[in-house]
Amino acid sequence: MNTLIVGFGIAGLSIAHQLRRNKISFHVIDSSENSSSLVAGGVLNPTVLKRYNMSWEGKDFFEYALPFYKEISNLLGYNVYNKTGINRIFSSLSEHNKWSEAFDKNNLKFFLNKKIVLKNVDEINTPNGFGTLKNVGRLNFKEIIKKYQYVLKGNYKREVFNYSNLKFKRGEVTYNDNSYKNIIFCEGYGMKNNPFFSYLPLVGNKGEMLVIRSYKLSEKAIWKGKFFIVPLGQSLFWIGATFNNNDKTAEKSLSAKNELLSELQEKLNIPFEVISHDAQIRPTVIDRRPLLGSHLEFDNIYIFNGLGTRGSLIAPRLSEFLYNYIFLDKALSTSIDIRRFTLKKKEV
Ligand SMILES: Cc1cc2nc3c(=O)[nH]c(=O)nc-3n(C[C@H](O)[C@H](O)[C@H](O)COP(=O)(O)OP(=O)(O)OC[C@H]3O[C@@H](n4cnc5c(N)ncnc54)[C@H](O)[C@@H]3O)c2cc1C
Repeated sequence: MNTLIVGFGIAGLSIAHQLRRNKISFHVIDSSENSSSLVAGGVLNPTVLKRYNMSWEGKDFFEYALPFYKEISNLLGYNVYNKTGINRIFSSLSEHNKWSEAFDKNNLKFFLNKKIVLKNVDEINTPNGFGTLKNVGRLNFKEIIKKYQYVLKGNYKREVFNYSNLKFKRGEVTYNDNSYKNIIFCEGYGMKNNPFFSYLPLVGNKGEMLVIRSYKLSEKAIWKGKFFIVPLGQSLFWIGATFNNNDKTAEKSLSAKNELLSELQEKLNIPFEVISHDAQIRPTVIDRRPLLGSHLEFDNIYIFNGLGTRGSLIAPRLSEFLYNYIFLDKALSTSIDIRRFTLKKKEV
């Protein structure tokens, strides 16, 4: 085997797909525990709804992501990306001006409907109206990950990676009797336990979400007030997510649940029941940029991490950058290369 991938959230899946399309053989080891991807809403939106501008490299990431997911759809035999409008609920009338200004910025015209909707929606309180984002959508991470694991068959193994079983010899690494040219760690917040990379400033941000059932809520659009309301089908909706920089445990908390419920009670005019509640730590980085690159000493050990938010948008393109770095010797941009931290560390 050429490569071992450790971790199979959206980062592991994206680099696995890059290897597959380039006919590079690989194994995956993944514990499936504490996976941020498995609780994520999967909303794919390159705009920043709070500031009404484009996210970091949003256009480039977006243009790369859609054909990438189309390719994965062809492989998995179903459409993994659901194009769904997002209705942005305005918290005050002053947001109308910001919306119109944002529309006039060239790169947002493709995503914003100019018209502000002021008419009432029966099920949702929108006293200040809402604007609609188009050409955006959602991926069901859980389903993609499960179906991709199935395609990998025996090359995917569910187990916790044991770092002490890793052996190095002449440009190769051996793990449990298998030899590989490269290892790529895609462990999300689990990186904190990785002795090769745990020095990197992965700070983490806890997110909590609910799944509710509501028979009267339309499943046609995603709604965004303080939180997202994302239709999942069968009258189920994903609600989230909270942000907490202080608590680094993946325990569910009553305070976050109440925060989500109080927003729902304010926004929904219809009955709903809570089906599930979950929490995970987003793999966020101190400078809000991803962590890609190779270990300073063992240059066939790589990392693909730091996809704190917007993993659905950024993972595909970043996986290409990492592939080009490992297999085509193309340098990574300094904004994503982990050497921005390792160099600082060495200077001290
Ligand atoms: C509540 C919440 C809502 C979110 N909503 C969205 C959203 O709507 N849209 C969006 O784009 N992003 C969203 N995100 C962010 C998104 O989840 C991340 O950007 C992305 O999922 C990170 O993916 P990852 O593969 O890097 O890490 P993870 O998804 O955490 O995957 C890491 C994998 O590595 C495995 N692993 C770790 N250590 C080991 C080990 N030692 N041995 C074996 N396996 C190991 C884990 O089991 C896991 O499967 C949300 C996050 C949260 C928490």
